Amino acid sequence: MQIIKSRDMGFCFGVRRAVDMMLEASADGHRVTTLGQVVHNPQVVSDLERVGIVVNERRTTEGVSTDTVAITAHGVSESTVETIEERGFGVIDTTCQFVKRSQLAAMHLAEAGFTIIIFGDPDHPEVKGVVGWCRGRGITIPDESLEGLPAYLPSKVGVISQTTHTPERFAKFVANLMEARIDQITELRVVNVLCNATTSQQAATRDLAQEVDLMIVVGGHNSANTCHLADLSKANGVDTHQVERVSEIEDDWFKGHEKVGVTAGASTPDSSIDAVVTRIEAIAAAQA
Ligand code: SF4
Repeated sequence: MQIIKSRDMGFCFGVRRAVDMMLEASADGHRVTTLGQVVHNPQVVSDLERVGIVVNERRTTEGVSTDTVAITAHGVSESTVETIEERGFGVIDTTCQFVKRSQLAAMHLAEAGFTIIIFGDPDHPEVKGVVGWCRGRGITIPDESLEGLPAYLPSKVGVISQTTHTPERFAKFVANLMEARIDQITELRVVNVLCNATTSQQAATRDLAQEVDLMIVVGGHNSANTCHLADLSKANGVDTHQVERVSEIEDDWFKGHEKVGVTAGASTPDSSIDAVVTRIEAIAAAQA
């Protein structure tokens, strides 16, 4: 059994930067509370907790007892930034530059009088944060079917996407919107805020899916970009399993497979990928 690793997988620069900034602050003696999980990966979160970094799952400053708060790579709403300033916390702002670009696009569209439609998961922290930059003019729609879109839209509509969506899905979303509401929209402004790091990982996974007959996707079950990689692999007809921990791997998955691909989401640390590859190598050796 041959194991082929994706040419682009694991920590993106945004996540690596966020984790490094928090570890540095902790090493400098700051007591830090992160507003939400740094990334959607339990191993990374527990590594940070081990050096004393506290996670406030509520993603607000409510109940925070440290002097310093950290904004995660997913960013926060404009009002949360204001509250942090008003309450005088020290801030480590690790908002990823792609997320910042999305927040600013939302704010500029709102200031120009556009209603902003965000193609994304309404429960995802990045999307919740971006909605908080829309000045009350944001609508979140989770998928291309446009379910949940109000019956009537204002004439000026801006469209942005959750940064980790695939370009194909975003293009389809915009096309469906125009087809459904061309009679209501007189001005449409589409801002492409997709993240280069995830589109590159998606392309690498798609290419790998052409080569292998089994794909193991490593990353948090609550990580949107990791789940997209698993969906892409399945869409290419490849038998696919997503695992967060090495203990989830079952020997039977590998029976009858000759080429196994390994890919991982942008929030997956190298240690998780290495552990999974080592386990698959052991299974391959046992089956030889
Ligand atoms: S996946 Fe993209 S948007 Fe998210 S933190 Fe990484 S680089 Fe930034």
